[in-house]
Amino acid sequence: MAMKTLKIGNVTVDRVQDWAGPVFRVPGMWPAATWEQVEAQRDWLEPHFLAPRKNAGEVPEKDRILDISLHTYLVRTPKFNILIDTCVGNDRSRKAIPDWHMMNTDYLAKIAAFGISPEDVHYVMCTHLHFDHVGWNTRLLNGRWVPTFPNARYIFHKTEYDYWQGDQDHFAMDGAFPDSVLPIVEAGRADLVKGDFAIDDTIWLEPSPGHTPGHVCINLADGGGSALFTGDAFHHPLQVAYPEWSLHADTDMAGSANARRNIIGKICDTGTYIMAAHFMDPTIARIVRNKDRWKLKV
Ligand SMILES: [Zn+2]
Repeated sequence: MAMKTLKIGNVTVDRVQDWAGPVFRVPGMWPAATWEQVEAQRDWLEPHFLAPRKNAGEVPEKDRILDISLHTYLVRTPKFNILIDTCVGNDRSRKAIPDWHMMNTDYLAKIAAFGISPEDVHYVMCTHLHFDHVGWNTRLLNGRWVPTFPNARYIFHKTEYDYWQGDQDHFAMDGAFPDSVLPIVEAGRADLVKGDFAIDDTIWLEPSPGHTPGHVCINLADGGGSALFTGDAFHHPLQVAYPEWSLHADTDMAGSANARRNIIGKICDTGTYIMAAHFMDPTIARIVRNKDRWKLKV
């Protein structure tokens, strides 16, 4: 099932999915998480965010792996074509996840299916600079990494850029700085911006540090509607119920939990959609109160 086009005022949001599959093992992925806590949320997680039980018994340990999606949001305003987060990219040596090593996907054809050629993209925005959010920033051409979207301004939060420039060998970068970030800067296509950067009064950044030091969410508002692109502030809908679940990979685990609580506090029981970087189909959802916790309503 593909994500339906979301319309917010005069803006449309589509999802370009590059990959989906099992990645997050519980326990393990989040140090605080137990499988019992997953089961406690099963009523709303099924069928989208948790595979229905195959039989009446316990879910065997080998099946306690949650699916995630790799996708880019294509945001079209009356003025601009914008891509938010650019997945892993083709032709890259990546160690973190075997399926993401030397990927060869038809990502650009999927974007072309929306009538958008690489030249038509005005902005590429990265919520943060981990390797699975910057890959399609570049492509390999005659042995060199060049900007995939030659006319785009690439929006990187300067705090984020400065941090990873100093820690390029981190496992969550996985080689991405030299092949997916630096070539954009060297080509003169990057704008290293402050946390309050706005493209216009429809699209603007909002710092949400924790997963990474310069992680940002991206606000979209038009015609009375709104959405919040939350990047990796949440990796899985379970963290809506358990905002205290941080990852080992978060540079600041307490900060990451705090970012989730702030986002929940801001958009829970409002009309604002949460658009996360890795949520599975149907991807469009809102956060609503659920007893003493919260859940996604799709
Ligand atoms: Zn990610």
